[in-house]
Amino acid sequence: MQIYVEFGDITTITSDVIVNAANGALSGGGGVDGAIHRAAGPQLLEECLTLGRCAPGDAVITSAYELPARHVVHCVGPVWYGGERNEDRLLASCHHRTLELAAEVGAHHVTFPAISCGAYRFPINRAATIAARTVANFMASQALPDKVTFVCFERKTFRAFNKAIEELHSSQQSP
Ligand code: ADP
Repeated sequence: MQIYVEFGDITTITSDVIVNAANGALSGGGGVDGAIHRAAGPQLLEECLTLGRCAPGDAVITSAYELPARHVVHCVGPVWYGGERNEDRLLASCHHRTLELAAEVGAHHVTFPAISCGAYRFPINRAATIAARTVANFMASQALPDKVTFVCFERKTFRAFNKAIEELHSSQQSP
């Protein structure tokens, strides 16, 4: 199972699918969403605005336009309200739904940012553990995608995702 963590800017990554941390209106915004829309060009927003709203925990797929990817999956992560509003389940769900959409278009390689770990304030270690487990469980039961990369824009995110992947590998090795 190929799961990697990299430090960098997701808009520069060559991948079949890159994932956007979108808002429910799919209207673009700040953070990684703004960076993806700037790099993709205005046609991405035009396509997004034809798709209506997307609920937290769900995802939609578009073309990637000027980005070095084939598709963008826009998933809507949960805003963190302290853990009492189904945040963990919604974060797992948006990763799972993203991978389903990627598999439907035959994607081998999917690249995620740290969904919900910026403006949506999800605790980073907790988010990294949920993201890594959800991806690993999906990949264990499906042929595609066969490679997933988490791209981290900040050192603390990079550390958290590396730790989550290490924990995943050690739990898989223990009897
Ligand atoms: P959310 O609203 O889901 O929290 P944000 O865009 O605010 O989304 O943040 C999600 C994560 O994406 C944060 O860890 C942030 O540092 C990171 N990020 C911001 N810009 C980029 C980028 N260009 N490439 C990869 N990650 C990015």
